[in-house]
Amino acid sequence: MELFTWFLCAIALSAFMAYHRASLSTYTLSFAALLALGSFLDCISFFGWLLFAAFALPLNISDVRKQYITQPLLSLFKGIMPEMSVTEKEAIDAGTTWFESELFRGSPDWKKLHDYPQPRLSTEEQAFIDGPVDTICQMVDDWHTTHERADLSPEVWQYLKDNKFFAMIIKKQYGGLEFCAYAQSRVLQKLSGVSTVLASTVGVPNSLGPGELLQLYGTKAQQDHYLPRLAKGEEIPCFALTSPEAGSDAGAIPDFGIICHGEFEGKEVLGMKLTWNKRYITLAPIATVLGLAFKLKDPEHLLGDIEELGITCALIPTNIDGVITGRRHFPLNVPFQNGPTQGKEVFVPLDFIIGGAEMAGQGWRMLVECLSVGRAITLPSNSAGGIKSLALATGAYSRIRRQFKLPIGKMEGVEEALARIGGNAYLMDSVTTMSTGAIDLGEKPSVISAIAKYHLTEKLRTCINDAMDIHGGKGVCMGKSNYLARGYQGAPVAITVEGANILTRSMIIYGQGAIRCHPYVLAELEAAGNSNETQALEDFDHALFGHVGFAISNICRSVWFSFTGSRLLPTPYKDETGRYYQLMTRFSSNLAMLSDIAMLTLGGDLKRKERISARLGDILSYLYLTSATLKRFNDEGRQHDDLPLVRWATQDSLYKAQVAIDELINNFPNKIVAKLLRVTIFPLGTWLSKPSDITDHQVAKLLQTPSESRSRLGQGQYLTQHGDNVFGQLELTLTNVLASEPIFNKICQALGKKLPFLQLDKVAEKGLALKIITEDEAELLRTTEQGRLAAINVDDFDNDELISASFKAQNS
Ligand SMILES: Cc1cc2nc3c(=O)[nH]c(=O)nc-3n(C[C@H](O)[C@H](O)[C@H](O)COP(=O)(O)OP(=O)(O)OC[C@H]3O[C@@H](n4cnc5c(N)ncnc54)[C@H](O)[C@@H]3O)c2cc1C
Repeated sequence: MELFTWFLCAIALSAFMAYHRASLSTYTLSFAALLALGSFLDCISFFGWLLFAAFALPLNISDVRKQYITQPLLSLFKGIMPEMSVTEKEAIDAGTTWFESELFRGSPDWKKLHDYPQPRLSTEEQAFIDGPVDTICQMVDDWHTTHERADLSPEVWQYLKDNKFFAMIIKKQYGGLEFCAYAQSRVLQKLSGVSTVLASTVGVPNSLGPGELLQLYGTKAQQDHYLPRLAKGEEIPCFALTSPEAGSDAGAIPDFGIICHGEFEGKEVLGMKLTWNKRYITLAPIATVLGLAFKLKDPEHLLGDIEELGITCALIPTNIDGVITGRRHFPLNVPFQNGPTQGKEVFVPLDFIIGGAEMAGQGWRMLVECLSVGRAITLPSNSAGGIKSLALATGAYSRIRRQFKLPIGKMEGVEEALARIGGNAYLMDSVTTMSTGAIDLGEKPSVISAIAKYHLTEKLRTCINDAMDIHGGKGVCMGKSNYLARGYQGAPVAITVEGANILTRSMIIYGQGAIRCHPYVLAELEAAGNSNETQALEDFDHALFGHVGFAISNICRSVWFSFTGSRLLPTPYKDETGRYYQLMTRFSSNLAMLSDIAMLTLGGDLKRKERISARLGDILSYLYLTSATLKRFNDEGRQHDDLPLVRWATQDSLYKAQVAIDELINNFPNKIVAKLLRVTIFPLGTWLSKPSDITDHQVAKLLQTPSESRSRLGQGQYLTQHGDNVFGQLELTLTNVLASEPIFNKICQALGKKLPFLQLDKVAEKGLALKIITEDEAELLRTTEQGRLAAINVDDFDNDELISASFKAQNS
């Protein structure tokens, strides 16, 4: 009996120490003390001590451990780990990790999350958003841009250049605006609410491209020449990486440069002959300077010993003989400038390489480093801005549009779609704020940028579909008054660029996350690749035993959280959000455990098991999205009225994290391990549900009722009631409809019948005739009727207007 009790104590002690991630020496000393107690109570014999010594001595004597345990495991590890290509290694080395590594490691520090400063705009940045950004929003006519001109108007282009819209990332010393990442995000959000063409045109030069590359890697001469010209809009840049044969697999570009001597501007110089065929290049048709990625070769060893120097980036003025630009692609009726470019044996000097000849072959590293930052800004901000404007517009439309004598937004089916838009709008804004905040703290968050890019563009696609459904024919029929169709058409562009989404989800998020966020995997990989065998063994030993302790700890924590429902975990706040923190800690431990078990059982195959790694990435992503939502709620002063939005966003993300874990276990290749995982993580089955119908109803109502909470949701968007701004007009009409309803009801009551809520101008006349409303009230009804009709009506055209000009010219 004593032995049994002692045994239980031993298990409890192990679990306790594992939970708290005790070191090997603490384990050993604690067990020795427990054994001594057992001997004292006469329940542990000499055999027990022998067994203890058999385990403890080899583990604790460093040389023995390294020779008999670590060395064989290191050899095994080298055998099963897949070869990493240079481009993969550079992609993994690029950038930094931030709060996502806390989420990956099983025990997130919530204080750390809430201690990160809330990003803020400087006075200058705010003035730019209130001034030039508002003006350009007013100037752009999206229908004219997309349907009639297939480009922004010359006035808009000029205004963009004059006001340095293309120079948000360029430093002040070169004449740029030098805005922080958060400010860039707020500018793009506002622009994308108005026009996708506008937001893409401004987004690209401020993202991955010559400006960023020059500032980080350019020579002084290149910086002094190009940056002031880019800042003034005298140069229009583009960046060409993608080739017909190399899209997602951009490291495989066939475009090349051969180092050789040649003549440039009348002088004999060392240079390179470039041959390229690129496509899909944004701004290429009008660019004056082409950022070009190609593989550089030095067959005559003019630079040194290396023949294949690798991917290199250069800046090529497009007016050089042989550079072909000008033709356009037509991306989904969202005609921002985008097209192919070619060149055959175009000779340029070596100092056209960004950073000069010494940066030859460094192009891939430069690109992935820039992408770590840019990917967190442009597409996530464009997506968040688009949805914020649509959330308000769709809420307003749902309240204005009536069918079956009711605003359609009161119908439960519509509420479900509205709630998805509202909850996601809150979440998406939270994510852009937190991610750009990380950049402003000096991070280059490669994992976060992939999470933000993937999830926000996917959510954009879902929410635009919802908004289209809610608008019915109003969303389908195109024309000046349609504020949805171009966003709907263009959503797949955001899905495809900067890492197509299937690839981003399947490979990038977890692939980079597992190696960068895991506390030991990178150290193990580096040790395995170290040619100094003594150092390799030393480093691998350290990482391996840390890893084992970490893995055991996450198993113990997962079991304990399943057993207690994670309800005993401390939470930073005692309100309803407290439970979300507990669930996130639980899922974080589950993720750490699942990740280790997947790596242990699948080894190098995990790289090919994309659907396993996609689901592991999903768990990490949903934890990040939930963290961003809770951080926003806290940073904005824990506004009680925002709780329906917070509840929807967190419950939706946590439910999806649960689905990812459930599907991962269902599809885990090793079925015995899968069963053990299920018992550990879901001993009583899955238990979280989607946001309830009540939450959906609350969010839908919030979108249809002007309030501070609703204004916070649309914060920073272009909603002024300028004549052509449909978003501003909808806001006004929503307010007018709500104010008109009591007047309308008063008239119905006096007439003794329930009229339909239409022809309000005629209803006003009846009210005036009955002398039960004032002239002001009648005027309000008339104005409301005008706004109501503008909101529900669609455009129509003469047949002739829809026939293209070129077709007409051919057939005239
Ligand atoms: C409008 C537009 C603007 C663009 N602007 C630029 C620009 O300015 N500069 C530039 O250089 N490029 C630009 N691009 C190129 C863009 O980055 C590529 O389109 C993108 O990398 C995908 O390449 P692809 O279209 O050839 O698709 P593919 O590479 O053929 O991919 C097809 C599908 O296969 C999936 N896939 C591929 N590999 C894997 C994998 N290992 N695992 C899982 N799924 C995978 C992808 O996710 C995708 O769904 C632009 C593209 C478009 C459409």
